This record gives sequence, structure tokens and C-alpha cells, in this order.
Amino acid sequence: MPKTSAYAAPAAGEPLVPFQIERREPGPGDVEIDVLFCGVCHSDIHQARDEWTGAIFPMVPGHEIVGRVRRVGRGVERFRPGDLVGVGCMVDSCRTCAPCRQDTEQFCEATAAYTYNGTEMDRVTPTFGGYSTRVVVTERFVLKIPAGLDPAAAAPLLCAGITTYSPLRQWGCKKGDRVGVVGLGGLGHMAVKLAVAMGADVTVFSTSKAKEPDARRLGARAFAETRDPAIFTTLAKRFDLLVDTISAKHDYDAHLGLLRPHGVMVVVGVPPEPAPVSAFSLIMGNRSLAGSLIGGIKETQEMLDFCGTHGIVSDVEVIPIQKINEAYERMLRADVRYRFVIDLASLGEA
Ligand code: NAP
Ligand code: ZN
Ligand code: ZN
Repeated sequence: MPKTSAYAAPAAGEPLVPFQIERREPGPGDVEIDVLFCGVCHSDIHQARDEWTGAIFPMVPGHEIVGRVRRVGRGVERFRPGDLVGVGCMVDSCRTCAPCRQDTEQFCEATAAYTYNGTEMDRVTPTFGGYSTRVVVTERFVLKIPAGLDPAAAAPLLCAGITTYSPLRQWGCKKGDRVGVVGLGGLGHMAVKLAVAMGADVTVFSTSKAKEPDARRLGARAFAETRDPAIFTTLAKRFDLLVDTISAKHDYDAHLGLLRPHGVMVVVGVPPEPAPVSAFSLIMGNRSLAGSLIGGIKETQEMLDFCGTHGIVSDVEVIPIQKINEAYERMLRADVRYRFVIDLASLGEA
């Protein structure tokens, strides 16, 4: 089996270090991909530090992968060597259960094969992510990157893009809707770009006053600094939809008060600790608190095509893999504008 260079967390909370993994030879239906770029998602940090519990080590994170097809296995029809492709949070699923047949593989009843910190569908072989020079993925879980998108800046679409596109679509985001994006990090800045492209009137809610000019450049019409509690009164009952991307514990009740009657707050950020929700925050105005998990493969391709049409990519800071531990520390300080993307050329061949 081909040896592949990677970076791994050897154990929970330890710094990532160079590591060798083995990738399978591309079998029937497989696509072998040379990884060019991999985005750094906050979920990588949560999992490398085992903040959600149950993590598997050594762990090679990375589920925002853009690369070029190197070889294809027998029977592969949609891809050829040289194609620019993407891989997101899943590399396989059972393909037969009701959610899989309905193109929501993220809810596969057998549990999808996540790109890392999981197993292949044999439930034995560990999966390793995109902080590596090569991946082998079954054709159905490989996405086409539209022509014209910068490969490094497109990488974050594979998780941050779909995770924010899907709830905007699920809750019918349309022209004129008042949408609040809560937290301006990797997911948040994609939510702003996507909601603006759908015609929404977007307000950014952020703890970082210094991000206000960026919020407006990204297309938001307004900015609210959440360290000032007065904004929760002045902007109360105004919003149709809130997309909450915050990665740490915060006050859900305060944000629910921003919704108009029948408004919806969709939680996509996954703070490790639970937070209370008062029933009054929901019954006063028949408000809904919802959640959303990435998106299915079909919807991910739809999102990529939408981004191709609208020229949407992520704002990225490209880093060599040797800076990954520093990048994690900066993300924890909300110091990212707005996605770190690893250039895998820095890792070299095995
Ligand atoms: P990120 O780039 O680190 O952005 C998170 C942002 O949240 C920060 O930039 C900051 O924005 C805000 N924030 C951080 N700590 C805060 C605090 N204590 N109080 C208030 N705001 C705070 O992270 P990301 O990659 O966008 O991921 C965000 C979350 O989504 C993570 O929990 C991740 O695991 C989760 N996620 C979920 C899914 C899903 O399928 N649902 C998929 C991917 C990621 P400001 O500076 O603007 O305040
Ligand atoms: Zn992610
Ligand atoms: Zn399934």
C-alpha cells in the first residue's frame, strides 16, 4: 500500500507532528487524488483535542480537500486524471438506507464514513483526512470543482460552504429576508457571502469590533458587536433567520430574542458544553431553534455550482503545514481572516 506523508495529532490535545499513513491502491470505483489544499475547520480543533469525546488517535484531520485526480480505478466514469476535485466531510456511506437514497448521506443509518476520526464502511479501517498528500475516495463522494474558482480558496467550500449553504436553503433564504450571521469566522464569512448572493439583507453579530469593515466588504448591510448587551434590545424581534456559527459556549436565549415571530435560529456551531434554553425564548413569538449538519453529496455539488456561478470562494490565509499548531491557536483567539488553508506542497512526497 502506498505510503503517504501526513500530519497527525498523536493523542488528545497534543501538537500535530509529521506522520506516515498508508492509502489503499485505487480499487474499482475509487479515485486517487493528489491533495493540493486543505482548509482548517474548527471541527479539526474540537476533534484533535477530543472536545466532543470518543476521538480516535493518531488523528490526521482535514475535510476541506481540493486536489487533482492522479489515477482512477476500474468503472470510474465521472473523473479522469488531471481533473480538479473536492472531498468534504464524508468519504462513503451505506448507499442503501432511506437517508442515503434521499441524498442525505450525513444521516446514513449505518453512520457515514467520515473523512477522518472515523472508519471506512468496513468499520475497521481508520479514515485519515486531508492534512496529507494523497487520498483515495470512492467516486460517489468526490465533487467537481467548477472551472474558474481558485483551488486554495475553494477548499473551504467543502465544509464551511456546504454547512452554511444547506441551512440557508432549508429555511428558504430569499431576497429581502433579514438574516443574522452569528460569529464571523470560517463558517460565518461563508454564510454572509452565500446569504448575500441569495439576496438577503445580512447583519453580522460578532464579538470582534475590528471585523466590522470586513463584514461590510463581504456584503453585510449591518454589524452588531455582541459584547454590547444593548444590541440585543435595539435589534430585538427583527430577524427571519439566524445562522449561529459560534464554536464556544454562549447565550442562546439572548440571540433567540433577535427573531421576529416564527423566526428560526439554526445552530451550526458545536460548542463542546451544553447551554440552557428558556422555553420563553421559544414560545414568545412561536420561534424555532434548529440544527443543521453539513449537507449531502448532491447538495454539496449544487453549492459548488452555485459558487461557480456567483464567483464565491473563501477568504483564505494559505499556510505551510508546519504552521498548523500556530493556526489552531490563532483560531482559538478568533484571529482568522477567514480560513486557514494548508498548501500540501509544503509536506512533500513520502
Ligand atoms: P472559526 O473559524 O474558529 O469561527 C468561530 C467564530 O465564533 C469566531 O471567529 C468568533 O467570531 C466566534 N466565537 C469564538 N468564540 C466565541 C465566544 N466565546 N463567544 C462568542 N463568539 C465566539 O470556526 P468555524 O470553522 O467557522 O466553525 C464554527 C463552529 O462550527 C465550530 O464549533 C465547528 O465545529 C462547527 N461546525 C459545524 C458543522 C456542522 O455540520 N454543523 C460543520 C463545520 C463546523 P467573532 O470574532 O465574529 O465573534
Ligand atoms: Zn468542518
Ligand atoms: Zn446509509
